[in-house]
Amino acid sequence: MSALERARRLLDAPPPPHMPGQLAVDEPPTPPRHHPERRPHMNIRADIAHLLREGLSDREIAARLHTCAKTTVAPTRRALGLPAARSGPKPLSVEELFHARTEQAGDGHLRWTGWRNNRGVPGVRTHDGTTTAYRVAFRIRWGREPEGNVRPGCDYPECVAPEHVEDRPMRERYRALLDAVLSPTP
Ligand SMILES: [Zn+2]
Repeated sequence: MSALERARRLLDAPPPPHMPGQLAVDEPPTPPRHHPERRPHMNIRADIAHLLREGLSDREIAARLHTCAKTTVAPTRRALGLPAARSGPKPLSVEELFHARTEQAGDGHLRWTGWRNNRGVPGVRTHDGTTTAYRVAFRIRWGREPEGNVRPGCDYPECVAPEHVEDRPMRERYRALLDAVLSPTP
């Protein structure tokens, strides 16, 4: 072994332990080794982790990625140590938008206080586009899509009361009834 090699080994060797009785000066106590909280091993899906960091809720992520909020997204959130997403205000349904924009006008009539389209027709704007307040009123009352135009069937101008709006088949039925009532009996 060359002198150079010996010197190198001495340098690489760990320092000798303190001999008993020898004062250990300036030896800081070894800090306890940090043990991170043990978590069950799981594979973190990058797409879920990304959306979690974007602040989406477990449900939103599950819906978007076609996976389960409880068994997949929530455990990933815990594994990443992310807090639960705060649920923001729920977007209003078109019915809620409708009711927020009407006021009683007496005798069951409803006055529209909301937006109107460029022809002055009471309207509701949703993320899908626009529709008339009459159509929304019709769906509220009858639970189905109207056929043809929907217009108020009462004498209050532009009434949007769900009980007062009619679609085309309803108007035709009433007209037929009225004709039958008014026609002179032979
Ligand atoms: Zn009315």
